[in-house]
Amino acid sequence: MKNLRCPFKQNIKQSLLLTMILIKERKPVLAKLETVDCGKPLSESEADMDDVIGCFEYYADLAEGLDAKQKAPISLPMKTFKSYVIREPIGVVALIVPWNYPLLMATWKVAPALAAGCAAILKPSELASVTCLELGEVCREVDLPAGVLNILPGLGPEAGASLASHPHVDKISFTGSTVTAVKIMTAAAQRVKPVTLELGGKGPIVVFEDVDIDKAVEWTIFGCFYTNGQICSATSRLIVHESIAAEFLDRLVKWSENIKISDPLEEGCKLGPIVSRGQYEKVMNFISNAKGEGATILYGGNRPKHLKKGFFVEPTIITDVTTSMQIWREEVFGPVLCVKTFTTEEEAIELANDTHYGLGGAVVSKDRERCDRVSKLLQNGAVWVNCSQPCFCQAPFGGTKWSGFGRELGEWGLESYLSVKQVTEYV
Ligand code: NAD
Repeated sequence: MKNLRCPFKQNIKQSLLLTMILIKERKPVLAKLETVDCGKPLSESEADMDDVIGCFEYYADLAEGLDAKQKAPISLPMKTFKSYVIREPIGVVALIVPWNYPLLMATWKVAPALAAGCAAILKPSELASVTCLELGEVCREVDLPAGVLNILPGLGPEAGASLASHPHVDKISFTGSTVTAVKIMTAAAQRVKPVTLELGGKGPIVVFEDVDIDKAVEWTIFGCFYTNGQICSATSRLIVHESIAAEFLDRLVKWSENIKISDPLEEGCKLGPIVSRGQYEKVMNFISNAKGEGATILYGGNRPKHLKKGFFVEPTIITDVTTSMQIWREEVFGPVLCVKTFTTEEEAIELANDTHYGLGGAVVSKDRERCDRVSKLLQNGAVWVNCSQPCFCQAPFGGTKWSGFGRELGEWGLESYLSVKQVTEYV
């Protein structure tokens, strides 16, 4: 059973654990770097580093477990044949990641790719590369042989595109926008390369009339405004039962007024700046287009008055939205929530699924059976019940429709870097 995977496999568990330990030691520095690089509140970067640490530890264990699964016999209907399965590393993998969770998104790919025995080339976003470069430094210090993990910073249309079309890349795992995914898939198709695509979203949060309003408001805020609203799975469309809508929105506004917007390194900050001028302008355009199309800005919509510098955007709540408006249909990737009300469960589900995207969705209700029914009918890769955004490295993550395909995390994440070979013998 030895040496079924690539030559460094004997040490891979140890390498992943050592990586985890070094990241743990450097957590305060890495968290600060992440915040300075992409603007998310320091407490959130610290939470990201904990997830990074947990993810390396998790895949270190799975790397070990993988050996036990090798040569698993298959039961055949004919005694004259014997068959077993080998899982092999898929080869050299290109890992292309975005800027909103720079090191965490990289880890979701690097840890399982290495655990599977692949060699990896990681391309961080040009807007936030620093912690990925630090990961390269860490891996230099552990016993990863040279060339097993390579960090390739650079611009998307240059470094990213070259990777996607490179003949020696065997698989591409991409996290980013749907527009870029189409280019990557087109390049991959020329050489029939497999791709995993983790893309954008326009997630619903469906709130029924029987909820504890304050709790539901808290999850709504968290689901849309965490990481400055720059989360692929953000539940940025609130679909709330008409009978509680007025009170719900009232409390939503009160909660929003208490969100601390500041320098993201400042204690207690809950909303930092948007990552770049380009992204800031994009978010502001969405807000002004919504106004232009006849929606109402119930709260926010501007740069906060107390902050003269930086690309800050107030948490923004938009009502009087129709399903044909841009704000309902397109991913903003900023702290902007749009709201619609519903009367019946069927109508709520129809509104929730009224999107090209299908990443995360949430349902909030005290009625267990209703939550089960709605969870089943939501066209999303992840459905959250009475919460929004929890993410565990043990559970599969990925989308449907324009949010992509393939799954990261859990055993599914590891499988995506393995190819399955059957060996069948005539006996
Ligand atoms: P993006 O598509 O602009 O860039 C993502 C990465 O692709 C970057 O590293 C970029 O340099 C690279 N890239 C750009 N053009 C390329 C090309 N032609 N060929 C190859 N690579 C190229 O996305 P972004 O602005 O960095 O991130 C925001 C998007 O990512 C949002 O749509 C968000 O929803 C999505 N996202 C999805 C997930 C998920 O898990 N599904 C997680 C985070 C972000």
